[in-house]
Amino acid sequence: MKDFESFLTNLTDEELATFIAYRIEDFLEGSRKKIIAEVSKRSLSHLELKQLYEKGLRIDDISNLNCPQCGSDKLFVETDYELRQNGRGNSEIAVESNRCRICGFNPAKSNQKGLINKIKQALGLYEKTRLKRPEIDGRMFT
Ligand SMILES: [Zn+2]
Repeated sequence: MKDFESFLTNLTDEELATFIAYRIEDFLEGSRKKIIAEVSKRSLSHLELKQLYEKGLRIDDISNLNCPQCGSDKLFVETDYELRQNGRGNSEIAVESNRCRICGFNPAKSNQKGLINKIKQALGLYEKTRLKRPEIDGRMFT
């Protein structure tokens, strides 16, 4: 799992502290050891981690797509396939939403707290849909 190690190495101290606070329980022993190794490499104490986590990553900027839970902008696109009704029946579409790499939160799939986040969710800022690939290809040749 070299990728996981480089992911950890590339986090700022604040991100690492936030990542640990939200996610450490999700990992098995081997990965936890890597997380703890990264903490000792940076010589961070438990108290420092707690302070970094409390300081947080939050950036309150409506124009920026940040995680509403931890404030990180390290989001990745998660794709789900859903059947949706349209005028001609059902079509399968890809729903793309953003999940936070730091705390694992997906704002499109959770109830939102706070007015700004509710507005962002209602505007569909956290979610995009597109036709599933074979349908796009199918339409190209008909
Ligand atoms: Zn987050």
